[in-house]
Formats: sequence, structure tokens, C-alpha cells
Amino acid sequence: MEISFNSQTHFSGKRVNNMKWCWNLLCSFLLLELAPIQAFVDINMLTALQIHKNLNGSEDPCRNFWNYACGNYSAANGTKYVDNFQLVEDLYAQAMVEFMESEGELIESALELNEEPAERLLAQMRAYYKACTKDPEIDWSEADVHSLEPNDWALETAKFRRHGLNAVFFDERVDVETNDSLRPVVQLKMPALSNNYSERRALQVLQRNHSGSVEGISRLVDQLRQLEAKHRQEEPLVQSWSLADLTQHIPKINWQGYFHELLSGHLEGVLFEVSDVDYLRELGQLLSNTSKSTINLYLRLRFTVLLKQSAPARRNPKTCIHHMRALLPLGMNYLYKRYVYRHRDLLDTKQLLLIFDSLKIMFGSYLNANRLQLSSEQLSYVMKKLGAMKLRVGNLPEETSHAFYDSHYESANFSDSLFLGNILEALSLRTRLQHDALRLPHSRLDLHRYYVNDDVVKARTSPFYENERNTITVPLIFLQWPLFDSRQHHIFQFSLMGGVLAHELTHAFEQEGILFDADGNESPVGLQIRETKVFQNAVKCAARTPAVSLKERLADLNGLQLAYDTFFGPNHNSQNFEYRPYAFESEFKAPQLFHLSYAQFFCGILPPVLGHDRDDVRVNLSVGNLRQFSLDFKCPPPAVQSPPVCELWRPK
Ligand SMILES: [Zn+2]
Repeated sequence: MEISFNSQTHFSGKRVNNMKWCWNLLCSFLLLELAPIQAFVDINMLTALQIHKNLNGSEDPCRNFWNYACGNYSAANGTKYVDNFQLVEDLYAQAMVEFMESEGELIESALELNEEPAERLLAQMRAYYKACTKDPEIDWSEADVHSLEPNDWALETAKFRRHGLNAVFFDERVDVETNDSLRPVVQLKMPALSNNYSERRALQVLQRNHSGSVEGISRLVDQLRQLEAKHRQEEPLVQSWSLADLTQHIPKINWQGYFHELLSGHLEGVLFEVSDVDYLRELGQLLSNTSKSTINLYLRLRFTVLLKQSAPARRNPKTCIHHMRALLPLGMNYLYKRYVYRHRDLLDTKQLLLIFDSLKIMFGSYLNANRLQLSSEQLSYVMKKLGAMKLRVGNLPEETSHAFYDSHYESANFSDSLFLGNILEALSLRTRLQHDALRLPHSRLDLHRYYVNDDVVKARTSPFYENERNTITVPLIFLQWPLFDSRQHHIFQFSLMGGVLAHELTHAFEQEGILFDADGNESPVGLQIRETKVFQNAVKCAARTPAVSLKERLADLNGLQLAYDTFFGPNHNSQNFEYRPYAFESEFKAPQLFHLSYAQFFCGILPPVLGHDRDDVRVNLSVGNLRQFSLDFKCPPPAVQSPPVCELWRPK
């Protein structure tokens, strides 16, 4: 590789000949620019232009940075998209509609792909899409999946669970064992609070259609709520049991019948992880005293709500694509990667790995500085975890054979005319695929064929970290401008994508993630680290401002610090030198442009947010907590001495 100065790279302000200031990584970016000049200029001009459009120059960046960086977002974009996520989701839908409505053979011959296509999968996906877009009406009353003969409540619940309904009386799902991240187990616990919404919807349906039965069901819902409130705990104790243990400890529930129905008799060797045992005991008592017909009607109501939530509110080609992405992730990811995303794979992956590896190197240097004063055993635990962490581009298995893709959805029978029937098939398919792992006693997770297929009605767009896999997954849909483009200058990539990946990486080392070791198994060493004084103080510090989720707060604060240090080097001080290593932006110096580009991830019309703090709060707290930010924007010293910043792993 030849090293030379690129004509794009110049410094403004103080030209620094002494390169000592120059952190290795940053230097290599400034010196090596291998992308074609034309494409390089265009995409960067475009990105810089977008940043300027979103900017609200009348705001003081030191007072409300989110409003400074994003305040003009809606004015700049009209009212078409609420944020950049909606934009990339729309681009995805547009491309997939085009694909679904095109002639498959023509596309195939034009692509010159090596691997044969999964023809049957393709036909299934096209049939599903056709029914979704063409079947005019849905008669929800036809959605009843079984007889009106009320049965044992656990058996009834299992029948609906087979069709995808979960968390009505308890939450039942297949996950992996706490101490063995490759062994599938059944997890049982009380329903999450978020299910209250489905409860309310069910009661509304009830009031409209079955006014005679309102009283019995309302009473049941009230009793369930009270039971949940009585037993809900932050970190409940988890029991690891066999079916015999389960039946012995919680005798009032017909577990044998439930799992016989759900797993078609494959019960041998199944392991259970059970939380909220007291809740489940009282639940068994409560439901055995409730009339069978009330339970039956309530389950049917909740099932109707599930179907309505899974289906697009208004059906058109794009909403059908979004619906399919959530419900049939393997099929949609396969088609998108093969026919739309295609050749971007190589360049994107190369860039993402560069960012990811750089973040890992910087975080490794944090660990070496050992701010937490960990013992050598504890230190090697975190080092090993960092070293083993993986990045996966696209939520698809490593397996690429068309035979695998063709057979994966084989058991589903999609029609090209009946949409409701297809939703039922798809929901049942998902439950079946999730439970398939339990069919053979002592079976292990097949990592070669692993992908994320969880119970969602809206697919994930943003990258995510999985504790059990020690892996960050970047969905392909996220890899689109303005969020990411492999041709962009590193300052854009390392701030926005770098910030996102740093946030995800940090999840592995916050108060929940730290409990899992390099292989995704819970470890007592992780617990020891969490209980150190420095760790606890850092958590308390982050909680000074109330947070929707404390672990998200920690990932935000520490993630930005990590991304910043990775790009500029540790202890960067923009008072000491000023530079502008690019020609496409004349107003902002590199540290300022870094912050502005980072904020683009959060730009949008502020929505009510679930799981995270609101976007403006996230940005303002994160930059406010970065030591260097006030120097980068030359902020005046605060009138009142501000409290020290919150840092966890970053060296002092
Ligand atoms: Zn997060």
C-alpha cells in the first residue's frame, strides 16, 4: 500500500508539522484515502449539506446541543419523515416493493450471482406479499383458531401460544440457559408491563362486541394486574428446573398438558428457567377459580388483538413490506441482501470492521489503565470478553446454501389470496421455529444457522448487542445514507456509526452486560466487578438525572466518550491545535463536525420514546458529560461549578 498525502487532506488553522499530536488511527485516515475522488466528494458534500440543513443557528450549542444540531430538522425535510430512521425504512420499502413487483427471472439473470437462488422461499415470499397487497378485506371473526368448547385453561393457553399468542397469563419463550449460552431452555415468568396495552385493547374490543361478558373479563383483568403488581421485582430469582420440578413446585398449573400441546409431545430433557414463582403459584389458584368460558373468551380477545397488531393498520405495498420484515425476518433479509443490497456487502463490511476494531483497541487501552483497580482475574475476564466480541453485518445466518433457505419456511403454507390465513401461518411458523430447538433432548444451538427471530411486530432498524452471543448485529437496512455510506469520510463514519457501535459495545460492560462472560454465560466474576465501589459510583453518577433506563444511559455516556477517544485519541484537546482535514466543510473544525454528525442519529421530530430517554435528553446529557465538548465549542465556563462528569472505564 502506497502512503502519500491526498489532495483532499489539508489542515486549516495551525499547520502542525510535528506529527506527535497525531493519534495513529486519525493519522492513517488523513493520510490514506483510497476511495475514488469523485464519489468521495459528492457523498461528503451531501452529508455536510444535510448537517447544515438540520442545524438551527439561532440556538446556542452550549445550552441545548440537540436543538442546535437538529432544531431545523422538520423545516429542512418538510413533514415527510419523522426522523432518519423513517427515511431509511422508506428507502428499504421502496426497493423491496420494486423487487416484489418485478419479474424475478430477469433480475436473477442480470445479477450473475454464484449461489443458486432459493426459489421456493422466493415463491413463498411473493405469495405472501401478493395476498397482503391484493386481498381486499379481512373478516376478523374468521380468526378463531379452535373450538368454543372450553377446556382446561392451561391447555387452551397452549393452543393459542402455538399460534403466536404469548404473555396473557404468563410469558413463555425459548431462550438459552444462564450458564450455558448454547443450551436452549424454556423461560417462564410473569408478563412484562408492556402487555398492559394489549390488555386495554382487548377490553375495548370486548365492550364493542360482547357487552354481555364485560363484567367477568374486567374482573379477571383487574385480578391479574393486582397479582402482577404484588409480585413484580427488579431482578427476580431464577430457578432452573425439570418438568417434574416445575409440576412439583407449581402444582396448580397443568404444565404437562401445556407443554405436551405446545411441543407436540417432545418433552424429554427440556430444561426450564422459572422466575416469579410466587406469582405463578397464585396465578394457578386464581385461574382454577375462574370460569372456563371467561378464560376462553379472554384468550380469544387477546388473540384478535395480536392479529390486529401484527397486521398493517392500513395495507399498501410499503406497509406490507414493513409487516413482512418483522414477521418473516429470514426471508426478507435474504431477499434484500441478494437482490437489493448486493455488492455493497464487501465495502461496508470492511469499513464497519475497521470502526469496530478501532473501538475495541481503544476500549482495550481503557481496560489496561484499570480505573476500576480490578484483580488480574477480573481484568482478564473483561479483556477476554472484549477480544471475543463479534460484529455481524446483517441479521442472517452464516449458512448460505439455497437448500437451507428453501427448507426453512417449508412448513408454512402461504396463499397468494388470503391474507388473514397467511398471518396465522406466519405467527405459528415463528413460534414453531423458536421451539424447534427443544425437539431433540440435549440439543445445542446451531450457531451456523442462528439469526434473531424474536416476537416483534416492528422489526429492528438500529444495531443491537446480544449478551448471550457477545455479538453486535448491524441490520442491513441501517447501512444507508444519511446514517452510513462506505464512501463517506471517516469523520462522518466514526462519529455516527462509531457512536452507535460504541454505545452497543459499552452494553457489554454496563451493569447488566458485565454479568455475562466472553461466551455469553453468566459469571460470578462479572458480579464481583459490578459490586466494586468504582462501578457502583459510576452507576450512581449516571443516575443523577433520572433515566428511563439506566443501562441505556450508561451506554450513551460511555459510548460517546469511546467513539470520541477512538477518533481523536485519548486526552484530545482542541485548544492545542485546530485542523480541518477535509475540503467539503469550511465552517466547522473536526471536533465540532464530529459532534454534529454524531447528533444526526438522533435528529427528528421528538416522539414519545420507549426504552430510551427522549432523543434531545440523550444527546444533551451525552455531550454535556464529555470532558472535551465545552472546549470543542468554546463554551464559557458555567456560572455555578458543574458536578464532575460520569466516567466508568475511561481513564482519569
Ligand atoms: Zn442501547
